[in-house]
Amino acid sequence: MECSEPFLFKVPCESSIIVLSLDIVRGLFLPSQKIQVLNKCKKLPRGAVWQVRRCLRWIDPNHLEGIQYVELIDKLPNVKEKSPDWYKEVREKERGIYGWYNEQTETDCAGIVLHMPDLCNGIPRFLWWTTVPTLLIAKVLAHEVAHHLQFTRGYIFSRNENFKRDWQEEAAADRYAFELITRMRKNWSYWLGHEAILVTADTYYRLGVNRWKEKNYAKAASYWDKVMRLDSDHTYAAHWYWRALDMLESDQGRSRKPDR
Ligand SMILES: [Zn+2]
Repeated sequence: MECSEPFLFKVPCESSIIVLSLDIVRGLFLPSQKIQVLNKCKKLPRGAVWQVRRCLRWIDPNHLEGIQYVELIDKLPNVKEKSPDWYKEVREKERGIYGWYNEQTETDCAGIVLHMPDLCNGIPRFLWWTTVPTLLIAKVLAHEVAHHLQFTRGYIFSRNENFKRDWQEEAAADRYAFELITRMRKNWSYWLGHEAILVTADTYYRLGVNRWKEKNYAKAASYWDKVMRLDSDHTYAAHWYWRALDMLESDQGRSRKPDR
């Protein structure tokens, strides 16, 4: 998850945010937390906005103070000269982007952007109304909320924190998300959702192995990519994903060689 810098999709502050949400997006109002969920996707899985709202209810309302919107996008903005360095780097390496945090500035509200294709790609359609997407979205959302805490109050967990390196803040944000997921899993339906994620990831992994044996490296890589989206700790999938891409590249290289 990459984030922590102010970014391109900015939403104007105060009253204009309401006008914008009415005119442009299917924004939904969340009375309890006063956070707009703004859908800017052309095609969004059914229930995605509801899932985001459900995630927000799991997060301490005090920690959400100051966040004005959660924006759902399905197309990443082009890299521009003024884009943050992390964004340029991630796009150059073609790595996935799950979301980021937009800090409040003089002209823009604080908010969180979620890149839905990278978030949703591994979730089978029949699981969309379950706790599976809730857990996956909550993990990203909580991570970005941690960045919001760091930016607004200067710490995530305790005032003694002193992050000298970016990765230290990233690690703390991951821990914040992990603690939320742990709390959610104490509820039986979320425990079940977590088990469903692991079973689905394992199924995709095995399907990938089968495709690899058939030398269908593109399909194998596609399955293993889904595994990583569901279970970021699945090191086998990560390893074999890159191996499949290597094989694919060398296959294509061979097929481009002219006959002698
Ligand atoms: Zn981050």
